[in-house]
Amino acid sequence: METVVSGIRPTGFLHLGNYFGALRSFIKMQNEADCFFFIADYHSLTTHPKSSELHTNIKNVLIDYLAAGLDPEKATIYVQSDLPETTELYLLLNMFSYVGELERCVSFKEKIKKHSDNVNAGLLTYPVLQAADVLIHNADKVPVGKDQKQHLEMARDFAQRFNYIYETEYFKLPVAYNFGNELVKLPGLDGSTKMSKSDNDASCIYLSDPPEISRKKVMKAVTDSGPTEPNQEKSQAIENLFQLMKVVSKPDTLTFFEEQYNACQIRYGDMKKQLADDIINFTAPIYKRILELRDQPHYLSRVARQGAEKAKESAVKTLKEVREIIGLKSL
Ligand code: ATP
Ligand code: MG
Repeated sequence: METVVSGIRPTGFLHLGNYFGALRSFIKMQNEADCFFFIADYHSLTTHPKSSELHTNIKNVLIDYLAAGLDPEKATIYVQSDLPETTELYLLLNMFSYVGELERCVSFKEKIKKHSDNVNAGLLTYPVLQAADVLIHNADKVPVGKDQKQHLEMARDFAQRFNYIYETEYFKLPVAYNFGNELVKLPGLDGSTKMSKSDNDASCIYLSDPPEISRKKVMKAVTDSGPTEPNQEKSQAIENLFQLMKVVSKPDTLTFFEEQYNACQIRYGDMKKQLADDIINFTAPIYKRILELRDQPHYLSRVARQGAEKAKESAVKTLKEVREIIGLKSL
């Protein structure tokens, strides 16, 4: 059976980008693979969140996972920091990652531009920690959004170097994956090409947004002044609305608005109203379960505890084997 590993950082609530980029694949794959899905709290420390905020966010991501359909009886769901074995593997993998390639990593270059006052070593070695998350369970596949493709390629490189240096085929070479499709990058409501809570909170629809909030956000989405000639190329903001419609609406609905656009008859207000209805239709059952789960702290801690135990079994085994290959054996 294949092993699948992935995680999401607890930097706030989960949005539709997280869902269609990663979470949807988690939910589908839990039925057919040995799955480990974690809450990447170590990863969120690069921005120094307040401890109370971090703790709340970890709980909220667990709630979002469960409400969206992750089943703790099928998949191993755990909090990354409950598995300190990951950090030992991270140390070991640092020996197989080169400073130059870490500095050239696109996400690192973006982060140092945005947060020039906090270029910590954790940011530089972020892809190494991510590789450790994946290799600690010797994964085959990693469901992630398109923005994570380069990090996964680096994880493969580190694994391959380890295998080469120790003349072994121990690590499988994990691939970035989206269930049945190409990797996804869902755009924002603000005209940006990526829905992202850290770039612009207003660009996001969260799974935990009450329906009336989702509607307000969609109705405020950026548009343009409308097409002036048939089959005109779409502006980024309008392309985004169509892309969002593609994931939540019926194909007929999408075709209808495409035709309206191409005939210069589109009314963006009508399109947004339809998009809001379809988004709410999609998020409302998840939102309902989120409200229920917020009142079940004992259940949540049981899920996290059981997940940590199961993840530990797998991690301890990997680490023992890796230590042996390296020569870190007890005297
Ligand atoms: P931040 O904005 O703080 O970076 P994020 O929403 O990007 O947060 P991450 O924890 O970085 O969240 O990513 C979690 C998962 O969601 C990753 O697999 C990532 O590829 C995916 N993801 C995030 N945003 C999108 C998006 N707009 N479209 C598709 N996938 C996305
Ligand atoms: Mg991100």
